[in-house]
Amino acid sequence: PLLLEVQGLFKQYARTRAVDDVSFTLEPGESLGLVGESGSGKSTISRLICRLIDATAGEIIFDGQSIAATPARHFHKAPQRRDIQIVFQDPTDSLNPRFSAFDSIAHPLRRLDRLPSEAALRARVEECAERCGLPRELLDRFPHQLSGGQKARVGIARAIATRPRLLVLDEPTAALDVSVQAVILKLLDDLRREDGLGYLFVSHDLNVVRMMCERTIVLRQGRIVEQGPSAALFAAP
Ligand code: ADP
Ligand code: ADP
Repeated sequence: PLLLEVQGLFKQYARTRAVDDVSFTLEPGESLGLVGESGSGKSTISRLICRLIDATAGEIIFDGQSIAATPARHFHKAPQRRDIQIVFQDPTDSLNPRFSAFDSIAHPLRRLDRLPSEAALRARVEECAERCGLPRELLDRFPHQLSGGQKARVGIARAIATRPRLLVLDEPTAALDVSVQAVILKLLDDLRREDGLGYLFVSHDLNVVRMMCERTIVLRQGRIVEQGPSAALFAAP
């Protein structure tokens, strides 16, 4: 069974066709890279799949059910919201400045997961923070008291909190230093193996994509121009 099936996806902004007839699939436990120049449509595809914006046309099927028809502004009430999470390139996109790191990570759990007790919630938040290499003493801080890399880790901890089945990562490692990148890359690999997490990993860094993704799609001006096993796509000529 497929985790995600994207069929004939289009997104038109005023005069720009940002996404132009894109189709691909993702299986549970599979890792798919999305690469392309700046402006090629990577972020738009990420936001379409997570249903933060509406497509102009096309089908998005998650776990056998179409999710394209629900307008983006209603999607936060859809049952799939907890199963599909996104890590934004700019971590401040997912962090409310008035929320501590703890409350940011707890937010999707409180809204979507209804854990049995405050202690269970705290345990889950601390586990997610630890898996992202975020020290516990930082959980009481607010975004303006955290470095860029620390905020990025809060954003990733938030995204894995509900144990999503599909994670979309939009250039997640840009703000992370190399040692933290390694922690995150290992985390993703563990979740893929343990929980069958499927992920779409957006990056302009071909080395990271080759290491992180079994398959890769190359975009140009909103269209898929190449796709295949990462090893074959990036093999030395
Ligand atoms: P990438 O993530 O690969 O840099 P984007 O998906 O951000 O690409 O952008 C794809 C194209 O869509 C670009 O030409 C960009 O200028 C345009 N675009 C993105 N978002 C908007 C928007 N909200 N309004 C109008 N044009 C947009
Ligand atoms: P609320 O509606 O209670 O503010 P939401 O979870 O809908 O909570 O969104 C809060 C903020 O998090 C918004 O700025 C939104 O852009 C961002 N966001 C929405 N969905 C996700 C997600 N799946 N992962 C990370 N951040 C998200």
